[in-house]
This record gives sequence, C-alpha cells and structure tokens, in this order.
Amino acid sequence: MTRIAIIGAGPSGMAQLRAFQSAKAKGQSVPEIVCFEKQNDWGGLWNYTWRTGMDQNGEPVHGSMYRYLWSNGPKEALEFADYTFDEHFKKPIASYPPRAVLWDYIKGRADKAGVKHQVRFNSAVKNVEFDQQDRMFTVTVDDHQKNETYAEQFDYVIVASGHFSTPRVPEYEGFNIFNGRILHAHDFRDAVEFKNKTILIVGSSYSAEDVGSQCYKYGAKQIYSCYRSQPMGYKWPKNWTEKKQLLHVDENSAYFADGTSAKVDAIILCTGYLHHFPYMAEDLRLETHNCLYPDGLYQGVVWQKNPQLFYLGMQDQWYTFNMFDAQAWYVRDIVMGKIALPQQDEMTSHTAQWIKREQSLKNSEQMVKFQGEYVKQLIAQTDYPSFNIDAVNEVFMQWKKHKKENIMGFRDKVYRSVMTGKMSKQHHTPWLYALDDSIESYLENENHEQEAM
Ligand SMILES: Cc1cc2nc3c(=O)[nH]c(=O)nc-3n(C[C@H](O)[C@H](O)[C@H](O)COP(=O)(O)OP(=O)(O)OC[C@H]3O[C@@H](n4cnc5c(N)ncnc54)[C@H](O)[C@@H]3O)c2cc1C
Repeated sequence: MTRIAIIGAGPSGMAQLRAFQSAKAKGQSVPEIVCFEKQNDWGGLWNYTWRTGMDQNGEPVHGSMYRYLWSNGPKEALEFADYTFDEHFKKPIASYPPRAVLWDYIKGRADKAGVKHQVRFNSAVKNVEFDQQDRMFTVTVDDHQKNETYAEQFDYVIVASGHFSTPRVPEYEGFNIFNGRILHAHDFRDAVEFKNKTILIVGSSYSAEDVGSQCYKYGAKQIYSCYRSQPMGYKWPKNWTEKKQLLHVDENSAYFADGTSAKVDAIILCTGYLHHFPYMAEDLRLETHNCLYPDGLYQGVVWQKNPQLFYLGMQDQWYTFNMFDAQAWYVRDIVMGKIALPQQDEMTSHTAQWIKREQSLKNSEQMVKFQGEYVKQLIAQTDYPSFNIDAVNEVFMQWKKHKKENIMGFRDKVYRSVMTGKMSKQHHTPWLYALDDSIESYLENENHEQEAM
C-alpha cells in the first residue's frame, strides 16, 4: 500500500489529514497516512506553550504565540469552506477571536473527521532521505515517548512544519553591554512583563505591530518601534513613537538613524523568521524566504525536482487556513492520481511566471488579490467546496482600512461570513479592555468591560 508521511500536525498538516479523510468518506481508497508531530498535541502555533528555548524533550520550542494573542485578521478571511464557525460554535461569534478560540475551531474540524489516530505525537522527524533506486523516502524519527529512534519508508513526504518558529536574530552593536532584557518575538510570552516599562520594538511587520499593541494594552509606559525601510504608519497612541533604523545601543539607551536616542528597559526583536528544515537532506530542502511564491514549488506546493515531495503553507500568509485546505486537497489529488503533473520544464516555467508576477506587485491590495488568485486556481482543480474568493479579498481590504482608521480598535469591527452569508456578532467587550483571553470569557454573553491596567 502507498504510504504517506506528513511532517507536522499544525493547521497545514491537519488540513492534509482532513483532505484524505474527505476522499475516504466519499468511498475512495486512500493511502496509509502517518503524521509525525513533535509536540504532544496538535494545532501547531495555535497550541500555546509557556516554554521558550528547548521543550521537555530537548527539541527547539515550536511555539511563537503569546498569551492574549487575538487573531490579527478577521476570521471571515480564514474560515474553512467545509466547516464554518457557526457549525463549530453553534452561535454567532465576533470577527477577531483569541488564540484559544481559533485553536478550538481547528481542532473541532479535525475531531469531527476522526483523524487523530493517524498522528504520532512526541515524534520529531530527524532525517528525510530519498533513494533514487527504489524511489522511496526513509524518514527517521525520535520517539520521545518511548525514547527510541526508528526509520520507516514512505512513497510520499508532505512537509507541513511551518516557517514561523526559527527566529531571525540580528545583532546590533552594544547588545553585549545592554543592561535590560533582549528577546526575539519568538520568546515573547506575556505582555504583563513589560507593564510600566519602556520598550523598544525592532521591526515593522505584523509581529512588531502586534507585540507592541499587546504591550500597550497591558500597560507599557512607553513604546518605541523602529523600521529599516518604511514606518508602519498607523495612528499610534501618544506613548508610541516610530523611529528610524536602530544603529546601536549602550548600557541603557538605543540610538537611531535620525540622530535621536531613547532610554529603554527592554528590546524586543520582531525581525522575522527563517524557513528552516534541518531534517531534510540537502537535495530535498526548500530554501526560501517569506514570499508569496517560493521558487522550486510548482503550484506553490510540489517540489519540482522530485514530485513525490510536497511543502504546505510555505508562503507568506494573507490567506491561511482555507489556503492550506486548497493546497492539501490539491496535493491529495496528485498523490491519488486524480491530477497529472506536467513535465519538469513546464512546471519550472509556470512557477517562473508566478514569481515574475509577484515581483511586479506594488501594494498590499495587489498582494491579497495575487494570493486570492492562487487559491482560486488550486480550488478549481479539486472538489474542495468553492467559495467567493473575491468576497474574501474584500474582507481583507476592509480589514486594512479599519486598521488605518484605528489600530487599537480594528478588532471591534465585524464582517459577513463568505461561507454562510451571516453577519458576525459584536463582541461583548472592546478588544482594548478585554484582558481575559480565555475561551470561556470569550463565549460568555455578558459584558466584561474592565479598566485598562
Ligand atoms: C505570532 C504569530 C501569530 C499569528 N497569528 C495569526 C493569525 O492571527 N491568523 C492567522 O491566520 N495566522 C496567524 N499566524 C500564521 C500561522 O503561520 C498560521 O496560522 C498557521 O499556524 C500555520 O500553520 P502550519 O501548520 O503551516 O505551521 P505551524 O502552525 O507552525 O505548525 C507546524 C507543526 O509542525 C510541527 N513540527 C515542526 N518541526 C517538526 C519535526 N521536525 N517533526 C515533527 N513535527 C514538527 C510543529 O510542532 C507544529 O505543530 C501567526 C503566526 C505567528 C508566528
């Protein structure tokens, strides 16, 4: 029987499990699937951990999420087409749920599909090699439960291990003598730590914006953020100042390219992540950066040099959960022989065209539409329930507009579900005052407005 290894049981790996299960539910014969997950539960980044550095098994901690993280985009943009929020929660909820609520939603679909038995938890993949002779992969795994290492053979490998877990950590002159704490966003866990502190956020991406907003919400005294090329440009609260590039620091202060300096208590590096697959043999290893169309992946997923290997969710992500679905259904149909791949040179030129298009994109609206078009084209090739991608693009546009209007209030906006046509419900407490991010508090009906700390 054909055997498939999925590496990682985050949203991408879970989408892949669900894709095969949906074919099985339609009476089709599916291959044997083994999903290796190094953590002791599924959900990937959404499975919160307080740990930083190494986990209990000596593996690098995967989690980059923190307490009080609420969805940074509307849930209407990531909703599964085959399992709506209404179906899961049995009542309307607001548009920007906290982490625990989204984790619950992802798990709900996978539980309904009954695919958990296919996941081997506490199982870290250490090596993947391909034998040209028998055209099989050998996957070597550390089973941390049994404390043993073993190898198994597979016909196909699907890498779904994410790319927001290995921090890119630059060094600035003076870091060695700085008296305060220096950490990367990957190790940021609780904004309360920075209450009444002056912090410097290095970077201008989502992490910078959201980590800074968390610190503001939970009582930081003063926030500085600094950018290399473009300021984030939102209407920040009075105690948040954007500075030009960081040049160096000394014991207590940071010095910027505009000639100014500021005394700071802590420095948080929101400087991005590396695509890092140390367990893949060199000739199978994807080397890319955070872009919308990684080179070498036909249709964004097929390893062109060896189409028995796939990478899921490796793009920069406007679209997330439903894009992973589109990819997973597509990969499933290649494996099951329903989709035939073209010759190598055709795959290469197809990818090159998309990359050329990506290079011509000028603004976020074009980027959203580009990724929307990609998702559309994937969905058209499978039986994944089709949905109105243009309407989702429009949700993204509304979201961008609402952020520009009020960066500390955009999470109070509500949107219409593209899947159900129903309007979302206003949350009981404005985001800025909702200090309890538990699922219980979120799903309660009454207002819990509290004073900001
Ligand atoms: C701080 C932060 C906030 C975010 N907020 C949002 C948001 O609000 N909305 C949104 O849509 N997206 C958000 N994202 C994007 C996020 O990337 C996706 O939502 C999603 O988690 C990606 O799923 P994935 O399965 O591809 O990767 P991951 O979620 O990273 O899951 C990968 C899985 O692979 C496992 N794994 C890794 N290496 C191995 C190995 N060697 N062996 C076995 N298992 C392994 C990991 O343990 C993990 O479970 C955020 C990302 C970050 C970092």
